[in-house]
Amino acid sequence: MELNHKRNDTKSAAAFAEAKQVIPGGVNSPVRAFKSVGLTPMYMERASGSRVYDIDGNEYIDYIGSWGPLILGHAHPEVIEAVKSTAEKGTSFGAPTLIETEMAKLVAERVPSIDIVRMVNSGTEATMSALRLARGFTKRNKILKFEGSYHGHADALLIKAGSGVATLGLPDSPGVPESVAQNTLTVPYNDLETVKVVFEKFGEDIAAVIVEPIAGNMGVVPPLPGFLEGLREVTSKFGALLIFDEVMTGFRVHLNCAQGLYGVTPDLTCLGKVIGGGLPVGAYGGRKDIMEQIAPSGPIYQAGTLSGNPLAMAAGYTTLKLLGQPGVYEELERKSARLAEGFLANAKEIGVPSTLNRIGSMVCPFFTEQKVVNYDTAKTSDLSVFNRYFGHLLDLGVSVAPSQFEGMFVSAAHTDEDIEVTIEANREALKRL
Ligand code: PMP
Repeated sequence: MELNHKRNDTKSAAAFAEAKQVIPGGVNSPVRAFKSVGLTPMYMERASGSRVYDIDGNEYIDYIGSWGPLILGHAHPEVIEAVKSTAEKGTSFGAPTLIETEMAKLVAERVPSIDIVRMVNSGTEATMSALRLARGFTKRNKILKFEGSYHGHADALLIKAGSGVATLGLPDSPGVPESVAQNTLTVPYNDLETVKVVFEKFGEDIAAVIVEPIAGNMGVVPPLPGFLEGLREVTSKFGALLIFDEVMTGFRVHLNCAQGLYGVTPDLTCLGKVIGGGLPVGAYGGRKDIMEQIAPSGPIYQAGTLSGNPLAMAAGYTTLKLLGQPGVYEELERKSARLAEGFLANAKEIGVPSTLNRIGSMVCPFFTEQKVVNYDTAKTSDLSVFNRYFGHLLDLGVSVAPSQFEGMFVSAAHTDEDIEVTIEANREALKRL
């Protein structure tokens, strides 16, 4: 792959103009519109392994991976085969199927906090349902979340949120009733002392703390030593539930998720992205006594026409099985470490202020010299530099998320050569700034 093509976006531009007539902003999820970077989004035609191809015939090494799910790369042959053979037998029954139990067993076996698990269709549904469960179980109303964390678009969670709402400057969305917002308390990420102060004041009313055990929606921000342990302690002390939102980190950073990596076990866990293998899936699970409060075993209601959908289960189950093969996470670690090392060396050589956060295959360069430990420090990154850098990378054939407040995802399909080409593209993009 040569590092000299400038992308042609003629067909994508026409497609985007047409879409804007009939779809809000032309897209079905805001970040896809490339609004903050002021460019035309690529309309994708196909993808394979580490590569995506747009309708103008451009090829990119892809680090978006559909925003996290595609840890095995695009169109993995075994995942595609599982979906095809399942589809031939029917796409949905609205009745139980055997693969749902297999999937639940596998998830329970691998995720330390999960005894039993309920499948839903997105990460948003998982967090929304887990919150209702936490409130119903504790009979309390307030929840605590962290500034710059994103947990999907349920009302209660769109307060000081990260990801696309941070990118577009809409962290407190209109349409969320004041009566809902006042039950969401927010604290800076990694700030255990403030969590304790908030608990001293509102502890008896707090149903749950919901946290991304590695923040991935303000860029990538790892937990400081003791942060997750401290949350475990303070929630237990006050009888609140600890919810790990592992929609992004689940099976991304470790076969036993971030909770396995850090050895901290929450009461409830939300999953999404990787467990769907590229099809729409979310899940929430946890301690049996809590989960048994969900209907039909308990009174707390949650349901779904397509939940546990056979195609989605086939893609997810196959993905999880493949992730269980020896060496997968070690290889992701090796390639991601090399990528990070190359990026840092380039920035140093060219003299671009930068810092880089990484846990496993979640990689995130920031254009700041400050250590990034929360949303405020993430915002010290020079966004105008990021936006130009992003455009140069695209022209050089490398696709990353069009926002500083997202990470890059390395997949099992990235080859050593892909990584070296990407490091070279990064060097050239930095030079062009
Ligand atoms: N939680 C986290 C940590 C996420 O990263 C996301 C999506 N980026 C969600 C929840 C929402 O998931 P979905 O987009 O599938 O609704």
